[in-house]
Amino acid sequence: MPDPLRCCAACGSPTPEIVVLGGLRRSRCLSCHHSQRIDVETFDYAGFAMGATGAAPERVAAQADFIGAEAFAGARALEIGCAAGDLAQELRRRFAFAAYHGIEFSPARDVAARRLDRVFSASLEDLLASGEVQAETYDLVLSSHCLEHLEDPSVLIAAMKQAMKPGGSIFIETPNGGGHPRLSFDDNRTHLHFFCASSLTRLLARHGLESFKVETGGRLDARYSDSLRLLARPLRTFAPDPSALSGHPLLARTDRLVVWGAGRMVDEMLAHFFDAARIAFFVDKDERKQGGLRLGRPVKAPHAIDTGEGWTVLINSIENEQAIREEIATRFYRRVCRVIALSELLD
Ligand SMILES: [Zn+2]
Repeated sequence: MPDPLRCCAACGSPTPEIVVLGGLRRSRCLSCHHSQRIDVETFDYAGFAMGATGAAPERVAAQADFIGAEAFAGARALEIGCAAGDLAQELRRRFAFAAYHGIEFSPARDVAARRLDRVFSASLEDLLASGEVQAETYDLVLSSHCLEHLEDPSVLIAAMKQAMKPGGSIFIETPNGGGHPRLSFDDNRTHLHFFCASSLTRLLARHGLESFKVETGGRLDARYSDSLRLLARPLRTFAPDPSALSGHPLLARTDRLVVWGAGRMVDEMLAHFFDAARIAFFVDKDERKQGGLRLGRPVKAPHAIDTGEGWTVLINSIENEQAIREEIATRFYRRVCRVIALSELLD
């Protein structure tokens, strides 16, 4: 475990500030604003009945709404610290999961066992080491109000990433700073870490995880009415993908088309995300562009559309979309059967 006196457990920055609150020391990172207890009191989780708060229907519904499309029929899910299984029950009401597993140490696991397919009572690190949980098994790995209790949250993040399929995602909820908009800090003695959006996203980034949806203000209960919710996935590598735009269903019945607009969007969009073999030619009103080649296809004046008929025209411009639409409707309506805009392929 990283020494909180020396470096930040979230971002790894050296020499955090030390503050004393309620007679106990904690660090505060000047780089990511993460706070961590230095003086820790022991707490018996196994004898503590978790799950009494945060089970309100509107709260679990808000969590499920936030998770959105990351939960889906046929998915496999693992929830660390599933308490009595209230979130699991709500998500399973919405989707027919292939499997929904949980981990819970408190007596609430007996209730959870009736709501989930399986509830473990060992740490995810141990389950992965023993083979009870296989690596790259789950589409969705969840942890709600658990991370702040752990000595080294980085260990759990590493295990969550290991249990997640390469295309999967992670959901985390934790108090946001003090956990209440009017309270500047949280002195819950079982909380060892005090995350904020910057510190949690940086902790995940150190594990190669990209936080793609972050929200504050999630209500757990009256004390923690400001919770931080986050969805993360493995950082995507940069890769051109011609099917990203030319594979759009709007173009499914189109063999070759005319692209209106041979400007910078050719290099910035089409070169990376559009199959040039689908392009018959470009048209552009800028005479300096006419006569040249873009993506190996000729650039012509707009009246070249008159040399054929039944064209599908792709408007390769965001700013001038409406003006080009009007020009096609006025001048080329006999020759053009369909107009599709880049904006439609991006939606
Ligand atoms: Zn930090």
